[in-house]
Amino acid sequence: MSIRPGAMLGLLGGGQLGRMFIMAAQRMGYRVTVLDPAEGNPSSSVANRHLRADYLDADALGELASTCAGVTTEFENVPAESLRILAEHCVVSPAANSVAIAQDRILEKNFLAANGLGVVPYAVIQNSHELHKSLNLDEVSPQKRPELFPGLFPGILKVSRFGYDGKGQVRVKNAIELDHALSGMNRTACVLEKLLSLEREVSVIVSRGFDGEVNTFPVSENQHRNGILDVSIVPARVSEAVVQKAREIAVRVAEKLDYRGVLCVEFFVLADGRLLVNEIAPRPHNSGHYTIDACATSQFEQQVRILCGLSLGSTAMHGAAVMVNLLGDLWQRGEPEWEQLRRHPNVELHLYGKLDARPGRKMGHYTVLAETTEAALQLALEIKQSLEC
Ligand code: ADP
Ligand code: MG
Repeated sequence: MSIRPGAMLGLLGGGQLGRMFIMAAQRMGYRVTVLDPAEGNPSSSVANRHLRADYLDADALGELASTCAGVTTEFENVPAESLRILAEHCVVSPAANSVAIAQDRILEKNFLAANGLGVVPYAVIQNSHELHKSLNLDEVSPQKRPELFPGLFPGILKVSRFGYDGKGQVRVKNAIELDHALSGMNRTACVLEKLLSLEREVSVIVSRGFDGEVNTFPVSENQHRNGILDVSIVPARVSEAVVQKAREIAVRVAEKLDYRGVLCVEFFVLADGRLLVNEIAPRPHNSGHYTIDACATSQFEQQVRILCGLSLGSTAMHGAAVMVNLLGDLWQRGEPEWEQLRRHPNVELHLYGKLDARPGRKMGHYTVLAETTEAALQLALEIKQSLEC
């Protein structure tokens, strides 16, 4: 049974992904209650109602459960337990189990590897006190230290939980640097990954409904700066074989997880054309923002459709799109001069209504539409340059 327009939907998390979900839901006739502990976030100003409480607050969860027909999340670090509790009372998408795996790098990597989905060579470091002892750092000379984690250096150490935008990651060349980095991370559980030379990075947004209907959006090519997504180019400039493979793997990830909702699968493309899954996000994703302006259905509308038990929308796209993130650094001298962007008819500006423009903070994005990726990219970079100087 589908959730009909007019119903109240619940949303965990109050960031920009939530804001864009709410805008899509309201356009489709739904109302939205946001649960988020913070005040003045991008979602609360557009939500029909804001419950300002902790994600595990029993009263707030009770209120969501009794007033909402369905609940979704825009934040991957929401406690899976909250989703589990809500699922006893109303429709929940995605399920607690899926979110629990996606929010924990150790569970995520082990899940992907166990299902034969290619990942970067890695090792789980649960208890680095043991490691510290086995390295015997204080007593043995460096030359005599046992060779640990063969084949993983140089590597990247990543905290298992709560990392984002490259935060919670340190590059390490050997076991000694690894031990220092672990100490800097308070010896919390981590994953050590081999540092690879990447040909490109791409991502696929896959949507899967309660009835198992599944589809994917066009593959996006993603360029990062300082660990933060900078530019997405769609369609990705990779071979048709890589496109097919990426879409296939994304569907397989969703099916193996028995995922219900919108999921992003991030990939590394190696020089020989091999695709490795980097990570997954149990929600719409920054690299899918282009879908708002460039596709028949946006990733946010898709999220509403799945939650409400409607059929999936078409992911058809005409021409090409390039999305550029706008970070707080651009606001150093006040509000940027938007006219240089607005005078182009095929450029769409999205601002998230954040008042505090801190460096590195995602404040908005713009999407350039054109016939070809070359044309879209050229204009996107021209605008980027003019905004930055
Ligand atoms: P986050 O959760 O911060 O997005 P990611 O694991 O996706 O963390 O890492 C952020 C970026 O760092 C990646 O998009 C990629 O550019 C780079 N990176 C991460 N892991 C590796 C790796 N093993 N080899 C090479 N580059 C990597
Ligand atoms: Mg990432």
